[in-house]
Amino acid sequence: MDFEYTEEQLLIQKTAREFAEEHLAPGVIERDEKKIYPAEQIKMLADLGFMGMMVPEEWGGAGLDTISYCIAMEEISNVDASAGVVMSVNNSLVCQLLNDFASDEQKEKYLKPLASGKWLGAFSLSEPQAGSDASNLLAFARRESDYYILNGTKNWVTNGINSNVVIVFALTEKDVGYRGISSFIVEKGFDGFSTGKPENKLGIRGSDTCEIYLDNCRVPVENRINEEGMGFKIALKTLDGGRIGIAGQALGIARAALEHSVDYAKERKQFGKTISSFGAIQQKIANMATDIDAARLLIHKSAYLKDQHKPYSAEAAMAKSFASKAAMDASTECVQIFGGYGYMQEYGVERLMRDAKITQIYEGTTEVQEIVVARSILEKR
Ligand SMILES: Cc1cc2nc3c(=O)[nH]c(=O)nc-3n(C[C@H](O)[C@H](O)[C@H](O)COP(=O)(O)OP(=O)(O)OC[C@H]3O[C@@H](n4cnc5c(N)ncnc54)[C@H](O)[C@@H]3O)c2cc1C
Repeated sequence: MDFEYTEEQLLIQKTAREFAEEHLAPGVIERDEKKIYPAEQIKMLADLGFMGMMVPEEWGGAGLDTISYCIAMEEISNVDASAGVVMSVNNSLVCQLLNDFASDEQKEKYLKPLASGKWLGAFSLSEPQAGSDASNLLAFARRESDYYILNGTKNWVTNGINSNVVIVFALTEKDVGYRGISSFIVEKGFDGFSTGKPENKLGIRGSDTCEIYLDNCRVPVENRINEEGMGFKIALKTLDGGRIGIAGQALGIARAALEHSVDYAKERKQFGKTISSFGAIQQKIANMATDIDAARLLIHKSAYLKDQHKPYSAEAAMAKSFASKAAMDASTECVQIFGGYGYMQEYGVERLMRDAKITQIYEGTTEVQEIVVARSILEKR
């Protein structure tokens, strides 16, 4: 077993860290407050090859492994978790899905521009009544000769407003449960497609989230991904990989909380001493550091298994539930270490707490991850 990064992985870490410091740190508080999408920075991430990291070069990607992707997610989210989620959705939920399930014609037309970052993608599974119970869809795709006619409302679509293409899940057959779900590549310009207003969110405010309305939306048959009825399997397999990326996002937030905490604790004096000399503060820092290391190990293990084409669903669920709790705990303790200053926006740590929360909710809540882990353990014995 080797705990060292390769030369290539070290280079990715350095590149991502320098990029984040130089181009994401400036203005991160303002983008959060005013809900400003980091358009220029996302273009730069595309130039670095960070928008289709795990896609082979022949399809426009960077041809890297999943550990490299996790390293980049950690570094980007360490400074700006909103940029992190934009990157994560395009990499894990859109490019990886097309790479695994699309036809060569679809890859040529859609994966190439998406993996190179020329275009941005979104993934639209959730509906108002279908969250954790994601197979409970109402959106319907009716076949009419060479087209499907899609109708329905999808909600909480990350990148919904800024993307060029959305992977939409809808029923092609009713009353057969998840076996009736199919997936489609929907271009923004297709007739009958529209988006709602940007949601006003607690955190990751620099990324956009919106509803999508399908009103007799005409989608050519050649834009159906794989066979009819395969949509739910495609979604679940894709979300397994997505969870590793979100765990990486959570890890970046947790590490930011630790770094801010250490810097502040060594500077802030009370009772004539730096607060870092108090046992209570040291204990918080020790717990944060331990959780962060443990989260990184779980993330890299699940990424390794994915790259080895071995089962990794339970490991990805463990990584996401653990890393997201680490992010929530570390960011809450960070605000505590900052005292009243932590509660003020200008110190930049209350944002970590707000950003951390979503990592326990999207791409499967913590409770859903626990179900995935428990099932795999119970089935094994
Ligand atoms: C900012 C944001 C961005 C998002 N981006 C996307 C996106 O890009 N694409 C997309 O398709 N979706 C997206 N989502 C949707 C997200 O994946 C769902 O919010 C999530 O899966 C949870 O669904 P829900 O919100 O309907 O909660 P519910 O499923 O209603 O859950 C409510 C509570 O009940 C718990 N619960 C539910 N079922 C069980 C169970 N069986 N056992 C125990 N507890 C249970 C949950 O864990 C949770 O605590 C996004 C959501 C947000 C908030």
